[in-house]
Amino acid sequence: MRPLAAHIDLDALRHNYRIAADCAPQSRSVAVIKADAYGHGALACARALEPLAPALAVASIEEALALRAGGITKPIVLLEGFFDADELALIDEHGFWVSVHSDWQVEALLAFTPRQPIPVWLKVDSGMHRLGFEPARVAPLWHRLAAASQVGELHLMSHFATADAGDSGYFETQLETVKALSRTLEAPLCLANSPATLAHRTAHGAWNRPGVMLYGSNPLEVDNPIAASLRPVMSLRSKIISLREIAAGEPVGYGGRWRAPRPSKIAVVAAGYGDGVDRHAADGTPVLVDGQRCAIAGRVSMDMLTVDVTEVASAAIGSEVVLWGESAGGARLSVDEVARHCDTISYTLLTGVLPRVPRYYSGT
Ligand SMILES: *Cc1c(COP(=O)(O)O)cnc(C)c1O
Repeated sequence: MRPLAAHIDLDALRHNYRIAADCAPQSRSVAVIKADAYGHGALACARALEPLAPALAVASIEEALALRAGGITKPIVLLEGFFDADELALIDEHGFWVSVHSDWQVEALLAFTPRQPIPVWLKVDSGMHRLGFEPARVAPLWHRLAAASQVGELHLMSHFATADAGDSGYFETQLETVKALSRTLEAPLCLANSPATLAHRTAHGAWNRPGVMLYGSNPLEVDNPIAASLRPVMSLRSKIISLREIAAGEPVGYGGRWRAPRPSKIAVVAAGYGDGVDRHAADGTPVLVDGQRCAIAGRVSMDMLTVDVTEVASAAIGSEVVLWGESAGGARLSVDEVARHCDTISYTLLTGVLPRVPRYYSGT
């Protein structure tokens, strides 16, 4: 069998959830498991988190229904609400909670007769300019929804554009906008994503919405002591399938991008962009071979990639290669570090692991 697999450590997931929850002991923390739990497998992650988290959050009703079909009974928040008024009957039947960000959603909700009131997170555009109502429009909407029999518990929700940044100027502007509304309306808040959960206590509300930190990634631009205690949940591991010696000056891979600066030992690894390994991985992108750091040399191909293992005496066919996460021996390679070499973020690497890569679960 092809040796590439994503090993998912559910104990690490629960450890990270506890850290997120402990960052904000006055808040309830909804575990964000959209996009197949950032590539980790939504149902397995939901089952692991359900005993700890008071609610789970996904991006769409399809994702939420798959969790219900798998036996998940906790509240599930639809972060973008419904995409069509037809979804309201299922939302009511399954007890989903909805974000409401557009006028047509308000009208559809108020024209519907649910069996039980639907909890609503009214979304304010406090400055990200993606989803949500302009702040000046929120008070009348809030009062209308608060008075409606269709609406259960009502919260004010907003999302930050720059909570991860070292410079918190714009973050503070957004926060003040939504806090001013909250004071006037006496509205409970749901604001904090992972970076705000970790680094901005002032943004903690009745609910927080940590996502990527649950999977062990540090979403902040800077080092952070709490983030350092997160554990990687996914370890993407493969093996060396071929080895060769090449002379100084010889090129490796498509386009000959990498050239050996010295006589070199090159390992071929079974993992490529057809598995979700980013083709933008630059020469020098770190990997672990037998637990030892070395570097990608040459362009990532569809099914294979090449690594300079000149310094790894033990490297042999069958040697373990970690693309990110933890080696069998416990050595770590952070997905955040790998992402920087690919000119991207951990989110795209984790969600980008393709279905042909088997997921193996450990922990309960
Ligand atoms: C994805 C998402 C989150 C979680 O963000 P992280 O940066 O992964 O913590 C929170 N809120 C909303 C609305 C989201 O879409």
